[in-house]
Formats: sequence, structure tokens, C-alpha cells
Amino acid sequence: MTALAFVDLETTGATATSDRITEIGIVEVDADGTVREWQQLVNPGTHISPFIENLTGISNAMVATAPPFAEVAEDVLRRLKGRLFIAHNARFDYGFLKNEFKRSGIEFRAPVLCTVKLSRALYPEFKRHSLDSLIERHGLIANGRHRALADAQLIHQFWQRIHAERSGEEIDAALRKLNTYPSLPPHLDPAIIDELPETPGVYLFYGEASEHGELPLYIGKGKNIRNRVLSHFSADHRSAREMTLAQQTRRIDWIETAGEIGALLREAELVKTRQPTQNRQLRRNEDVCTWTLIDAGDGWLKPELRLAADLDFGIGNACYGLFKSPREATQTLRKLVDAHQLCDILSGLDRQVGNKPCFGHQTRRCKGGCVGKEPLAKHSMRLMGAMVTLKLASWPFPGPAIIREGDEAHLIDGWRYLGSARSDNELHALLELKRPPFDRDIYKILSKQIALMKALPGR
Ligand SMILES: [Zn+2]
Repeated sequence: MTALAFVDLETTGATATSDRITEIGIVEVDADGTVREWQQLVNPGTHISPFIENLTGISNAMVATAPPFAEVAEDVLRRLKGRLFIAHNARFDYGFLKNEFKRSGIEFRAPVLCTVKLSRALYPEFKRHSLDSLIERHGLIANGRHRALADAQLIHQFWQRIHAERSGEEIDAALRKLNTYPSLPPHLDPAIIDELPETPGVYLFYGEASEHGELPLYIGKGKNIRNRVLSHFSADHRSAREMTLAQQTRRIDWIETAGEIGALLREAELVKTRQPTQNRQLRRNEDVCTWTLIDAGDGWLKPELRLAADLDFGIGNACYGLFKSPREATQTLRKLVDAHQLCDILSGLDRQVGNKPCFGHQTRRCKGGCVGKEPLAKHSMRLMGAMVTLKLASWPFPGPAIIREGDEAHLIDGWRYLGSARSDNELHALLELKRPPFDRDIYKILSKQIALMKALPGR
């Protein structure tokens, strides 16, 4: 549970830019449930009209000796910092505080929850959601009205009441609809939520820095960075893994991209280069291998396993499949040999001892290529036919190519992602960089986008 601050203000009027605060009431609720209540009269430095005096019970005489906001600003900030700001008609209270802080030279930001909106979301059957309506509907107990702390206490009571009346899932769903997340990571500055862009891109969660420097905990991507990041912190579909991630996250960083392809490419690249500790599908790239067919003489094409990282897809040797390990590669070939009645020896799965046929020939699966009963060239044709479904697309350009997406150009060469550029200068700088090793995940992304690729002009 995130720390909360239930806030209510009394003011000299309704306009945040010209009217001033006369009283602040805050009910602080810590993550562990500890509650603290605080109220402070504030000298507005301006006259309180008789109408407002009547409404709030705060008179010019009462505030005459109270400190101006500037004197209590640091105290108020300390009480609100790192908390979800909850108020009834929150735009009003948040706006007033933001303006008062600004006059004191403080930039105030907080995630905000409005209890009018929350009430409307949870109880849509009712038309009225004023504080008086909530008091009546939920039997809230008012210790006086229109004084700051008393109203803050009422909002706090309302919060407790809805948790008694509704399930956690219902409340979470309502908060999500209002774009409010009470279950933000405890060590994360909630103001970050306001800064998250609603654009496609990649985001990085960081934990506490260690002696190895700051390593990312998790790297993800999304069409909308803000929504995607917040979805990690919504309480209802949180796994143990998500909980751990939320507990550890202290900082969030992001890279905006022009579109989804850019987000996919950068995520795949960053996961490999930054090695986040919590990405479940973190695959080791070094062992990824593929089958090639080598000419073993007399028309015999023999499968040979090659490390994908070394392959140059610009040269016309066909590659078949991308496998996590030699073991996975061999298992796949084994299945094809069995299904297509191929020879164990000619497919390289077994070694020939003297002139003996392969094991498959003894069980009548192999058609006898190993003992001259099937021409080598014919077996090679059948082997190629069997492997065709695994065949990788060969790199279709003589040199590098680009995919244009919005204002970005993604530079690719031999299925390697070299980077994304927003200008010709950036593009030329990327061409100077060392080509990264072949990467299976990048290939998978790019092989679906061949239609969008254009050879890099002027090369
Ligand atoms: Zn055989």
C-alpha cells in the first residue's frame, strides 16, 4: 500500500491564482497504516470576505497572527511528499497548493486522486457526490464542517468505508479508470507518474545502485509507456514476481520511439546489452545456432551446425532454424529425419562404421542412401525439402537498409539492428559503429517487416 495524504483546504475564494489559503488540514496514512492528523491556520495576506468568514468560520482575526504559507511550505511539503494526494474535488485543493508552493519557489507535483470522481466511478447509480451527499449516504461522522481537518477526516472515513463496502478488485478497477495507482512502488517518487509519456517506447526500472553501478531490474516496451508502466503496479493482477519488482524499483527511465517497431528493436537490443536481472525471457545469445548445408562431395549435402552470431547473412548460404542450443538443434533435425524417412548417416546424426547401413535402414526407415541404394543427390533433395520450413530469410539487400517509422529511420544490416536515427548525421554516425552480432530476437522482429525495408540509398 502506498502512503496516502487526505487533504482539505479553506481559502479566501474559489480561484487558485488570485485567492489564497487560510487553513490546511492533512490526514497522513503511512504504508504501514499509521495515521497522523495535522491542521494549520495560514495568514492569507488578504482580506477574508464576510461570506467566506461565515461559511468556514475562519475570521480575519483568527488568521491575523497565523504564519503565511511561505513559512509552513517546507512542513506541508514534507507531509505530502511521496504520498498519493487525495481530496474531494482534488483539482481545487491541488491547484491551490501548487500555486502557493510556486509563490514559495517550490515545484510541487504529486499523483492525485479525486474522491468525487472515485465516488462517481464506484456508485454510478447516485447523481450527487458532494461531501454532504457522501456523509449522508455512507453515514460518515463529521466533527464540524468546512474546517480543513474535519473535511480531510471525512474523506479519510469515506476511503475506509469504500474498502469495507467494495472488493479490492472493484476499487482497483475504479482507480485504474481514474488513472490513479495507490499501489505504486514504495521507494518510487510518485511524481514520476506525471512525467511518463503516453508515446510508444521502452522503459527501464532501476533498483538500488550496487558496487557494480546501476543495473536495470527490468526492461519493457509498450505502445503507451505510461499505461504499460502503470500496469505493472496495479494491485489486482500482481504476481509474486511483479510484487518483488515493485518493491525494488527506485527509479524509472524511458526512451520514446516513433512507433512500435522502434520500441521492439530497442527493447531487444537493451535486454541483451543491459542484462536486466528480472526479465524472465532473458536469453543467452552466444549459444544460438543454426543448420547450414555443406557440400560433402558427390551431391551429398550434409547438415552442419553453426553459431548464428558468426553468420554473415549477406553471403548466400541458406540457414535453417535458430536454436537455443546444439541440443535443441539436434532434436529438431532428429524429428525431421524420422518424419521424412531420411538417413541418419547422411544427415550427420550418426557416423558410418565400415560399410554398415545406419540404424534407420535396419528399421526400414532410411531408404538406403548410406549403402548406395538411394542416390546421394536424391537424398539431398529430400533433406532440403524436409528442412524448408526452417529456412531463414536471407538478407535481401547488397548493403544496409532502413525502415522508416514516423520521424525515425531504423538502420539494419545483415539482420543486425544498428540503431535508430532522426537525422542524416545520426544515421551516418550509426554506420561507423561496429556491427553487433546476429541476434535471434532482432531477426524475428525484422523478418516480419521485410516489406517496409528499403536499401540505404547512395551506397
Ligand atoms: Zn541410412
